[in-house]
Amino acid sequence: MTKRIYMDYSATTPVKKEVVDAMMPYFTEIYGNASSPHGFGRDAKKILIKSRETVAKTLNANADEIYFTAGGTESDNWALKGVLKSIKPKGNHIITSTIEHHAVLHAAETLEKEGYKVTYLPVDSTGLISLEDLKAAITDETALISIMFINNEIGTIQPIKEIGEIAKAHNIYFHTDAVQAYGNVAIDVEELNIDLLSVSSHKIYGPKGVGALYIRKGTLVANFVEGGAQEKKKRAGTENIPGIVGFAKAAEIAHDNLDEHVNRLTALRDRLINGLLSQIDYSRLNGHPTKRHPGNVNISFEFIEGEALLLMLDHKGVAGSSGSACTSGSLDPSHVLMGIGLTHEVAHGSLRLSLGDFTTEEDVDYAIEVLIPIVQRLREMSPLYPANN
Ligand SMILES: *Cc1c(COP(=O)(O)O)cnc(C)c1O
Repeated sequence: MTKRIYMDYSATTPVKKEVVDAMMPYFTEIYGNASSPHGFGRDAKKILIKSRETVAKTLNANADEIYFTAGGTESDNWALKGVLKSIKPKGNHIITSTIEHHAVLHAAETLEKEGYKVTYLPVDSTGLISLEDLKAAITDETALISIMFINNEIGTIQPIKEIGEIAKAHNIYFHTDAVQAYGNVAIDVEELNIDLLSVSSHKIYGPKGVGALYIRKGTLVANFVEGGAQEKKKRAGTENIPGIVGFAKAAEIAHDNLDEHVNRLTALRDRLINGLLSQIDYSRLNGHPTKRHPGNVNISFEFIEGEALLLMLDHKGVAGSSGSACTSGSLDPSHVLMGIGLTHEVAHGSLRLSLGDFTTEEDVDYAIEVLIPIVQRLREMSPLYPANN
């Protein structure tokens, strides 16, 4: 029986038992519609209010600034489209980066097709945007700056506080996709001057299909879903109470255990990075060496195919993710790896292993132990590997 080791926490996480336990009563006992005036509805409404307060507290926001959504993708779409299509946008220009999640990039591309202007800031070889580039891109028409907090592929943490200061100084709204940051770094929307922020439950050990968009009070944002009066009429539809309860529970656990979680993960991450880089030649770490998600490991192994590597790893029971979009039916290398300047070949030989709360030191050592011979075997078949020539 081979082991099964999950190292794809950036794709999604298992739901923690405490979270499931918190959700259970809201399926079968407290199942009222939170908009109903009767007792069943009032009970649902009560937990909805409490959950909103819980999530707000984790961001140092007010409860009336938290809007529940169906997850990170929806929050990102709402932030971009909502700001540009509000009743009084400051202008028709967005500044974002080339390495954003597709939820931001594709929303930006749609806006472009509709006539809005978008500037995609490049990043350096570690994945960081340049603050000088950002300042230079600002025009009188810039309505929104949308820069992700932590990149989901390479783990780079952007200078969010500095970006917030620049946005504030120019009176421009600042949105950040904080899906990977939430639960992995301290987030204070006041201190960081953030106006809109996307988070998702299933990346922090909560259920899938639920998340939130923080919208600073007074920010002009168009409604996203029309219907009933839910979420102050901005995002209508009967609330997903069990999901929201689970999300709030997961957010609370993450917030209360942040330091311990980060310290533990960082040690595991560095053990994995050092173990691989020191024992496998022609390998390089992608992303920033220190400004980095505590659980993100992204390494390029030259002269091999990431897809073959992933399959062989999976065969040994280790679940990771590759540096290309092949899994989604396309052979294009990842826009993020191309964004940091990797060649197609190197990008294709990349592997992301993302660690989380259930990862052990034993798991890390096992992954290193199985990866070394797999990379070696694949290279033996490569005509480009120097040792074969
Ligand atoms: C996962 C992810 C999303 C999408 O969130 P969903 O809740 O899965 O829709 C958006 N941005 C980043 C950075 C992510 O990692």
